[in-house]
Amino acid sequence: MPIYPKKERQIFMIQLIRGFKDILPGEVELWQAVEKVARQLLEDFGFKEIRIPIMERTELFARSIGEDTDIVEKEMYTFPDRKGDLITLRPEATASIVRAYIQHRLYAKDPVQKFYTIGPMFRRERPQKGRYRQFYQINAEIFGVQSGLVDVQLIFFLVTLFSRLQVSDVKAHINSLGCPKCRPKFKTALSEFLESVSDKLCSNCIRRKDRNPLRVLDCKVPSCREAMVKAPSILDFLCSECKEDFDEVKNMLEKLRVPFVVDKNLVRGLDYYARTTFEIQAESLGAQNAVAGGGRYDGLVSELGGPDIPATGFAIGFDRLTELTGLDAKQFYQKPDVFVAALGGQSRLAAFEWVCAFGNQGIRAELDFGGKSLKSQMKQADRLGARYALIVGDDELAKREAVLRNMQTKEQISVSIDGLVENIKGIIIAE
Ligand code: AMP
Repeated sequence: MPIYPKKERQIFMIQLIRGFKDILPGEVELWQAVEKVARQLLEDFGFKEIRIPIMERTELFARSIGEDTDIVEKEMYTFPDRKGDLITLRPEATASIVRAYIQHRLYAKDPVQKFYTIGPMFRRERPQKGRYRQFYQINAEIFGVQSGLVDVQLIFFLVTLFSRLQVSDVKAHINSLGCPKCRPKFKTALSEFLESVSDKLCSNCIRRKDRNPLRVLDCKVPSCREAMVKAPSILDFLCSECKEDFDEVKNMLEKLRVPFVVDKNLVRGLDYYARTTFEIQAESLGAQNAVAGGGRYDGLVSELGGPDIPATGFAIGFDRLTELTGLDAKQFYQKPDVFVAALGGQSRLAAFEWVCAFGNQGIRAELDFGGKSLKSQMKQADRLGARYALIVGDDELAKREAVLRNMQTKEQISVSIDGLVENIKGIIIAE
């Protein structure tokens, strides 16, 4: 019988917030497997985990991401807290990692630091396949190294990770955004070009062409894309240092056999990027085809009040990664090692004690709490995919024995109740 009459029950059926999702058992095993592979590889590449809060002061994101970006303009979940301070659910992780790096003076002993973090991000975008309002990212950041070789290392890491996760069909798209020395000249040329095509641009781009012309290159509206085909390329404006840096990046990627294409229109939506910028795209994902993106953000540490320390990093879209991986979730399903089927009050209590002891010994054990018949308990064991059933009734208990049944071969042996947990653990481990 339902606890509430139907009408009232409906009142209690609260649904998920749009763009948010549950990751249920059956799917979560794949997420765990992907996370395990990613963590291991990150650690192998020398990254240390850092855990940062889910909320920060709004100002941190406004300053680091840039006031006239989509994220800051319209996608952040921002609330006044009870004291009226504006706080924001993090839309990305880099700003917080940089804040932590500065706040805890993590550069004091050695400016070179490598961090990673894994967790949820929040952006109020229009939800669609592959785009959520709460999504997950794997972030990695390297501080204190100016060389473009670390950008190559990040791209190499991504390609290696995707190959371990059996993700096919991916390609690195790379570009250089120059530096504060050479970018202004490009911006001027770009602005002139934008004026000449302004009648073909969307209203957003019209607004942005004066404030942040680079962002127009990033626009996904087809008419803007078409208008931008003949836009000047930043690569023609690079100063000698930036050109040398980008040549080194390309040469080393070739040496490491990383497949890549140079994409002159690849600019990051965030203002603090410089020099190498990259995106890993997977054609099979459709419209939302970027699985990971990143690049160098040399100006951000000082912009946020720290010393002048260069940095680079990436963010992988975890949700999209799990959609792309060739790993099979079923392969990671955890099934019980043993199902304890008990008949009778005394045996049920004994079974309960064993199940606790099994759990404590690293053996996955289940039992029925509902007083079912032996037949339906065995059906349950089957349904759960248990490797063994341990069957005990009050009579057997009095004789201090139980029956262990191999659910696959149907073979049964009698086992003594004395030292039972240790004995069965031995049998399971030996298998
Ligand atoms: P970004 O921080 O915008 O550079 O994004 C880095 C990666 O996060 C992208 O390549 C996507 O894979 C993923 N991502 C960004 N926004 C979303 C979203 N709304 N839903 C799902 N994944 C996202």
